[in-house]
Amino acid sequence: MMKKIVTTISLLLFGIIIHAQQENQSCETAVPSEKWENEFQKLISEYKTIQKSQSQSSTVYTIPIIFHVIHSGQTIGTFPNISQGQINSQITVLNQDFSGNGYNSSNYPSNAFVNWVINQSILPASIDSKGRVKIADVGIQFCLATKDTSGNLLHEPGINRINYLSMNLPSPSNYSNQAAMKSYLDAILKPQTIWDVTKYLNVWITDKNNALNYTGVSSVPPLSGLLGIPDNSTDSTDGIWCFAKVIGSNNLYPSGIYGSPQVEGRTLTHEVGHYLGLRHIWGDGACVTDYCDDTPPAAAQNTGAPSSYPLNVGSCSSPTNAPDGEMFMNYMDYPWDPYKYMFTTDQTTRMRTIMINSPFRNQLGTHNLCSVSLGLNVENLNNKIYIYPNPAKSELNVNISQNEISEVSISNLLGQVLIIIKNTNTINISDLPNGVYIITITQRQLNLTQNLFIKE
Ligand SMILES: [Zn+2]
Repeated sequence: MMKKIVTTISLLLFGIIIHAQQENQSCETAVPSEKWENEFQKLISEYKTIQKSQSQSSTVYTIPIIFHVIHSGQTIGTFPNISQGQINSQITVLNQDFSGNGYNSSNYPSNAFVNWVINQSILPASIDSKGRVKIADVGIQFCLATKDTSGNLLHEPGINRINYLSMNLPSPSNYSNQAAMKSYLDAILKPQTIWDVTKYLNVWITDKNNALNYTGVSSVPPLSGLLGIPDNSTDSTDGIWCFAKVIGSNNLYPSGIYGSPQVEGRTLTHEVGHYLGLRHIWGDGACVTDYCDDTPPAAAQNTGAPSSYPLNVGSCSSPTNAPDGEMFMNYMDYPWDPYKYMFTTDQTTRMRTIMINSPFRNQLGTHNLCSVSLGLNVENLNNKIYIYPNPAKSELNVNISQNEISEVSISNLLGQVLIIIKNTNTINISDLPNGVYIITITQRQLNLTQNLFIKE
């Protein structure tokens, strides 16, 4: 009998240890106040009125991101000083997720939320051709920032590596609870490293204490006239923090450093949702509203690997979510990375309203901080190519999210090859006459990608 109890206890302990080693998603983003939400609802009404009077807004916003990679002298590619390739794969994840083409979105059930749509008279903009709640194209994209705050070209696009020891800052892994970590981030790390919040989305990537049970936190976007209320970030704290092992995609960049099971970059997708004004799908309470009509109510967060659709049918009444259950596949829920793959149209409305109205969001993408592609075959979704600066004067840099570059050639518009370079990312073009050229990139003798660039 005693032995049985001991075995049971060991199994329990073993279970807990296993659990602790997993990076389950949980975030510590503050729940916005009623005052903030009331102000936001006025702006959303205005946005919808404008949308009705004009044709559907087709502006695609592109937000430049600077990743502050915080380390203590590790070589690049060694935790927590993660590689450019791992960060590039995160940008690809964000762009897929925010355009409605997220990893596993093809798993969306063929009858997903069709009853909810009918029972709640959901508006046509939220419905797809099968009568389901639509997986939205948010119309917001992301790029690696190409320049620092002084206008200098970044050696590694989108990356600002910071050795905290050389700045005499404490280690991020010292802080084992939410309050201590928040104070470290908001009072020490962010103010000393932040870049202009009206130009960049600042993302800090660090190690963390093992006892800290969350992997991401975002600022709530400030709204004009509400500066000073506790929800609002300031120009020395605005942005997102993530644990280094949840950045990037194991699929797109297998040689990165990941914390299973959060290996598909969805922590940052979720946090950017908050950064653009979204709430958790369960409203941070039992069946509380998230202010989106097209997301059915949920009794609580879903974690792990949800069994199958429909899930938790009837978990909420008034309105009931039966017979379709909860929208566990929404990025603003907590299942493991591979199980979530959608934003909705009403969530899109909130995010686009923030892009227009929040003082720290409404100028993002207007400062020429993204690399310009004039491309032919610029991207396939899994393999993003950055060519910068463009136009270029003396040097052209090529950066690819995956694979090594094996050869780069530059030709004129007649197709005559003028320069061929092997195994390098930087090409000297100072001898070329001004004009438009074709750059051809070869990877492992297989992929050919051509882009246009301008020599000036
Ligand atoms: Zn969250």
